[in-house]
Amino acid sequence: MHKLEVRNLRVAVGGREILKGVSLSVATGEVVVLMGPNGSGKSTLFQTIAGNPRYEVLDGDILLDGESIKELPPEERFARGIFVGFQSPVAVPEVRFAFLLQAMINIRAGKKLTDPNPQVLAQAQRLAAELGLKPEVFNRGVGAGFSGGEFKRAEVLQALLLSPKFTVLDEPDSGLDIDGIAAVGRAVTRLAASGSGILLSTHYARVLKFIKPTRVYVMAEGRVVLEGDENVIRKIEEVGYQSYFNEIRQEL
Ligand code: ADP
Ligand code: MG
Ligand code: MG
Repeated sequence: MHKLEVRNLRVAVGGREILKGVSLSVATGEVVVLMGPNGSGKSTLFQTIAGNPRYEVLDGDILLDGESIKELPPEERFARGIFVGFQSPVAVPEVRFAFLLQAMINIRAGKKLTDPNPQVLAQAQRLAAELGLKPEVFNRGVGAGFSGGEFKRAEVLQALLLSPKFTVLDEPDSGLDIDGIAAVGRAVTRLAASGSGILLSTHYARVLKFIKPTRVYVMAEGRVVLEGDENVIRKIEEVGYQSYFNEIRQEL
């Protein structure tokens, strides 16, 4: 069992404190869902976990199996088994998607870069078919002309190919059609069953059709304000964040 833990994390972007003491954890095999209104800091948390240098850690820590990773560069975090898929992925059109996939596998295995291996490509093709991605994507530049839905599917494909210790996905179900949501939902469930620990953000209860969360955290204004189970997601869908927060405040 592996554990990824965020402990009392305070993070500033452009000199402004965005995360004000976030704590949460995910273990391998778990599906942890992060919710929260727009601007509550979910993407900031994911960028910080990835190691984006624009996100300044003021205090607190990120621990992988008890060891701090907050000083490590992004590629080292990736090599240790943390894969982060972003809300708005970046296109790198000069690198072929097939080459990126092979590079990820090699880096993860601590090997030098090589040309795409036919076995890896064959496996990627099978995953593409499952996810509803056209086989041509592998010959295209990373993100080159990808639709929003293709971007999301391509990120999940990378995770499935890598089987990372931790799969961190920022709104993997946003901008997808119904088939895409189903495909991504099933893929997430399969990743968790194969032993990856999942941390994903979402705005929608519809993912519950395809995933079974172990735990749900809700963020507001840079803090985790609530921890619960899937009923939290249903309740938020039903009444919205503000009513839910008001209700909780009255109960306290
Ligand atoms: P969420 O993903 O929950 O919608 P974000 O983490 O994207 O929230 O944003 C949290 C807050 O941080 C917002 O107020 C947003 O404007 C601010 N923020 C996020 N990224 C940046 C950035 N790169 N520069 C300045 N402010 C940012
Ligand atoms: Mg947002
Ligand atoms: Mg976001």
